[in-house]
Amino acid sequence: MAIATVNPATGETLATFVPLTEAEIETKLALAASAFQEYRKTDFATRSNWLNQTAAILERDKTKFAEIMTLEMGKPLKSAIAEVEKCAWVCRFYSEKAPEFLADVPITSDAGSSYVSYQPLGIILAVMPWNFPFWQVFRFAAPALMAGNVGILKHASNVPQCALAIEAIIREAGFPQGVFQTLLIGANQVAAIVEDERVKAATLTGSEPAGASLASIAGKNLKKTVLELGGSDPFIVLESADIEAAVKTGTTARMLNNGQSCIAAKRFIVSDSIGDRFEQALVAQFQALKIGNPMEEDTNIGPLATSPILQELEKQVQTAIAQGAKVLMGGEAISDRQGNFYPPTILTNIDPNSHIAKEEFFGPVAMVFRVKNLDEAIAVANNTPFGLGASAWTQNPTEQQQLIKEIEAGAVFINGLVKSDPRLPFGGIKRSGYGRELGIQGIQEFVNIKTVWIK
Ligand code: NAP
Repeated sequence: MAIATVNPATGETLATFVPLTEAEIETKLALAASAFQEYRKTDFATRSNWLNQTAAILERDKTKFAEIMTLEMGKPLKSAIAEVEKCAWVCRFYSEKAPEFLADVPITSDAGSSYVSYQPLGIILAVMPWNFPFWQVFRFAAPALMAGNVGILKHASNVPQCALAIEAIIREAGFPQGVFQTLLIGANQVAAIVEDERVKAATLTGSEPAGASLASIAGKNLKKTVLELGGSDPFIVLESADIEAAVKTGTTARMLNNGQSCIAAKRFIVSDSIGDRFEQALVAQFQALKIGNPMEEDTNIGPLATSPILQELEKQVQTAIAQGAKVLMGGEAISDRQGNFYPPTILTNIDPNSHIAKEEFFGPVAMVFRVKNLDEAIAVANNTPFGLGASAWTQNPTEQQQLIKEIEAGAVFINGLVKSDPRLPFGGIKRSGYGRELGIQGIQEFVNIKTVWIK
């Protein structure tokens, strides 16, 4: 894929970038390696100060950064502004908490004194997706830099200006040169970087094929990886649920980011007894959403990020329909306007065992499944290769406990929206990946957990 800014609302190519040459990559890796030798010696107070400054810059210019995101990948501007604010939050969070999360842990043993010490690893490669072009990067960078690592970023090819802006922010905040660098490169240039002995570990957020490819190269080179991959989160609504609240939250959960979120509610699993009511209310909520120019204040749904994503979504919906799915609304791409627009769509009558039911729909398309009872709801929820998040709605404490125990996912939210939060670990199981970001667990992924034993 060419490295370029293509406005998804118009299809217009606004800027193109030449990928770095091998020699240019070498220069950046050498700089990162030498920067690490000094940076690892800085103390928490110094790093905290730089990270707080990063937060201040993000807040100062939030509209400017949000506009770059909206221009490059089409999310509504108001959610882009909220994303920049959340990046400032994760910076402040780790700025404050890293000294506590990485403090020495005394352990009683046969030593005179023994403890665990957390030390940085060196250069960490981050391969990131376009859907939350700032958030995905900052949720990696804030803990990684606080831990004393240095970062190199290979961002998605359709968000190069976001990638360059992030490097500039971190530099302006005062972090030394080489501590965080953006590499404008194609996916085919990643393998050689993973293999480079100066690069100690890698994290990838994106699709399963990309994750499997990176992890296999890292595995051959015995390097640790964290993978945050796709999801097809269930959104379970049982008889005792507050249906109105569930439908409202479910709409947000499906439509956030024009439907292109890994933790979007992709499969609505609803008790038969409330099925009709739920579907009618969901249709009403979806119909109220305004599709349009993502730069406009009142737009709820902008274009999908790229035309291949639009084509893939269209194909999936057509496959589902050909296999007997009923279309409650939407179901066809919007052809009377430029850009990658797809309308809110609701599909029912899909066989939960079919192949299509197990795919990730990356756009504003909801599948609704009817179930007879809690056990069937859990079985349908788990009938997917993915295991990222899950949202379940019931007022019954016994049902809540069973859902918490039996849902196969990295997170279960009861009567609430699945969301990422700097304070809580985030990640998946099954084909959604492994390892965790955020929380104390996130900052402890890329450190040497060193055992110290003193006689
Ligand atoms: P993608 O194609 O996998 O791209 C993600 C990143 O990986 C991009 O930087 C891409 O570069 C790079 N890449 C692609 N193939 C690669 C390879 N073989 N080796 C190394 N790097 C490679 O993902 P996407 O389809 O754009 O993103 C959407 C996916 O990300 C969805 O499945 C979504 O659920 C998932 N996601 C997961 C999370 C999470 O936290 N679990 C969060 C957000 C998104 P190019 O752009 O140059 O191809």
